[in-house]
Amino acid sequence: MAMADITVRGAGIFGLAVAWACVRRGAAVQVIDPFGPGAGASGGIVGALAPHVPENWNDKKAFQLDSLLMAKSFWAEVADVSGHAPGYARTGRLQPLEPGGAALAAARGVAAQTLWQGRAVWRVADAAEFAHPPGGAGGQVIHDTLTARLHPGRACAALAAALLAKGAVIRTEGADEGRVIRATGAADLAALNAAHSRQVGSPIKGQAALMDLALPDHPQIFAGGMHIVPHEDGTTAIGSTTERDFDGLHCDALLEDVIAAARSAYPPLQEARVIRRWAGLRPRSRSRAPMLGAHPLHPGQFIANGGFKIGFGMAPKVGQVMADLLLEGRDTIPDGFRPEASL
Ligand SMILES: Cc1cc2nc3c(=O)[nH]c(=O)nc-3n(C[C@H](O)[C@H](O)[C@H](O)COP(=O)(O)OP(=O)(O)OC[C@H]3O[C@@H](n4cnc5c(N)ncnc54)[C@H](O)[C@@H]3O)c2cc1C
Repeated sequence: MAMADITVRGAGIFGLAVAWACVRRGAAVQVIDPFGPGAGASGGIVGALAPHVPENWNDKKAFQLDSLLMAKSFWAEVADVSGHAPGYARTGRLQPLEPGGAALAAARGVAAQTLWQGRAVWRVADAAEFAHPPGGAGGQVIHDTLTARLHPGRACAALAAALLAKGAVIRTEGADEGRVIRATGAADLAALNAAHSRQVGSPIKGQAALMDLALPDHPQIFAGGMHIVPHEDGTTAIGSTTERDFDGLHCDALLEDVIAAARSAYPPLQEARVIRRWAGLRPRSRSRAPMLGAHPLHPGQFIANGGFKIGFGMAPKVGQVMADLLLEGRDTIPDGFRPEASL
């Protein structure tokens, strides 16, 4: 390939989404990652694409809504070009309605009508409407139709294959060519911390499990702080732990606690076998928002980091705004997402 227009360092979901947005606009792109696509936080198993609560609207929620609404066509095109299934579907989500929570849930439902632009609903429903509701069929649930799911590891593999199909290059090492963007997750946060007196970001470990429970079209469940996410392939993911202090990336007793809690919160999981245990490091910036824009350490280069707990939900829009900046010099990044917000 001739010289690349864009070099993306890091083949997690942020790097791959930026690379894809640039390739779609006709740029020659190389992606460089010593460990290959999905080697970091993005090679996981949970894949809940869940919205913020529809209230107290701000730039971050608006950006996320855009991204969630872009996801369907984004992943359909990736599936089409690559021939691989990212496992995307907007199957919705159920949350048990807490005692005394009906008025608040209803108010959020009204707010959602405007904030979600009529594109999805947030409503209180009878649990009996659903085949496998949380908390049994007797009660009520909050049902939203905006939440979707995908399979993170497969979504990365599909994006990588789509990039190759469109002529991009993915390699383990190489020199910078063209405009350079670093999307190296926890590694770049460590470099930023080393160069600043304050902590710019920190990796937050998460552990999750994949269960042998097939409910492929059923809404995902959010109960007891846990995501229970049925996948297309007949598995169901549960997660995750949130660990600031940890010693290595192995799975331990904390995950067994999550599995036990999920089994008791959601009866269909009671007899399900654990197929896989997985842990990763969520890149969290100090502001907790994504860090998008000029790279604070490398003059002339760019950064896409800070996906934290919703990197997959944000990815389509992150790709779009970074391609605007890299290819057209157009800055459409919300102020709260600038790297300076965490410096
Ligand atoms: C347990 C768990 C559950 C999660 N659940 C969800 C969820 O349900 N929904 C959701 O949206 N998000 C979820 N997330 C968050 C999501 O996984 C992250 O926000 C996202 O993966 C971050 O992507 P990234 O591309 O920034 O980082 P990463 O995926 O970590 O990618 C960074 C890449 O950079 C590479 N790299 C490192 N150093 C270099 C270098 N010097 N040069 C080149 N490349 C380098 C690494 O090999 C890696 O591939 C979860 C995370 C965890 C851990």
